[in-house]
Amino acid sequence: MPGIIERYRDRLPFAPEDPVVSLEEGSTPLILAERLSEKAGVEVWLKIEGANPTGSFKDRGMTCAVSAAVREGAQAVICASTGNTAASAAAYAARAGLRGAVIVPEGKIATGKLAQALMHGARVVALRGNFDEALKLVRQLVERHPISLVNSVNDFRIEGQKTAAFEIVEALAGELDALCIPVGNAGNITSFWKGFQELGYAPRMCGFQAAGAAPLVHGKPVEHPETVASAIRIGNPARWEEAMNAMTSSGGAVRAVTDAEILTAYRFLASTEGVFCEPASAASVAGLLTHGAGEGVRRVVCVLTGHGLKDPQTALEHAGAVVPCDPELAAIERAVLE
Ligand SMILES: *Cc1c(COP(=O)(O)O)cnc(C)c1O
Repeated sequence: MPGIIERYRDRLPFAPEDPVVSLEEGSTPLILAERLSEKAGVEVWLKIEGANPTGSFKDRGMTCAVSAAVREGAQAVICASTGNTAASAAAYAARAGLRGAVIVPEGKIATGKLAQALMHGARVVALRGNFDEALKLVRQLVERHPISLVNSVNDFRIEGQKTAAFEIVEALAGELDALCIPVGNAGNITSFWKGFQELGYAPRMCGFQAAGAAPLVHGKPVEHPETVASAIRIGNPARWEEAMNAMTSSGGAVRAVTDAEILTAYRFLASTEGVFCEPASAASVAGLLTHGAGEGVRRVVCVLTGHGLKDPQTALEHAGAVVPCDPELAAIERAVLE
């Protein structure tokens, strides 16, 4: 499949002659989750955004942001990141031959994402502060230097990410009642809403934040956000108003889910649906199971934003143990069958 710019160019701000930096992102699976549907009491589909080239939905926005940066003649791109934006920016910068710098909260990003950013050759800066502080600083930095900012405050990111809504509408012929989605910096829910609106659809937008990082739920910034779901450990979302507008206009809501609820959904998806997502992604399913999707909802899509392999540490901490075994038939029999 071609990447999202080629696929949806008529709905994106790119002319036919514009440069395109792509890893053939998008066209991700949308699968029916039968076990989950039974449990939730509604028909649930999973949009597997972890199947994007760097393992998260950020690639949809990054192909647009980096292509636009090349078109503008930028020499370098930069972002603040809880991890996946860094991995994606680093990959697309490498592909474009641009320099990349990523600012991440020290010690607070998942191992896989760090490995990606480093392997793709980005300069990885570990800030002794949180994501919100990192974003504030890079916004100041790009005012002083000719570097392109590729966070979701960049409108090209929103444009690219809205294509996930297009794919869902195409796959389900527009038949969906609600969308469940994790909310961090609130760019993605903004993107989905824009995408649905452009096609004339208005499913209920149900946003879920981690209880320890739920500024939209409380109606005020959280100074020290904390959660196991590191991708949504954000206390002051940049797209605050737009996200609230998406939820209010669609008859949806923003709600909190605890880390325990997130981890239960995370394990359930992996062990009963065969889908390994990262903890932040499981917030969408945890939210559906805890709060429901509302009256009259029959069909729901849960967005699984990133791949489980991004965060092997959290997985190993919350999964079963390995069974040790001597190299003998009797021992193997016991190990396998008992
Ligand atoms: C970035 C990210 C989110 C949050 O998306 P926002 O646009 O910041 O709301 C959720 N899950 C994963 C895996 C992410 O990488």
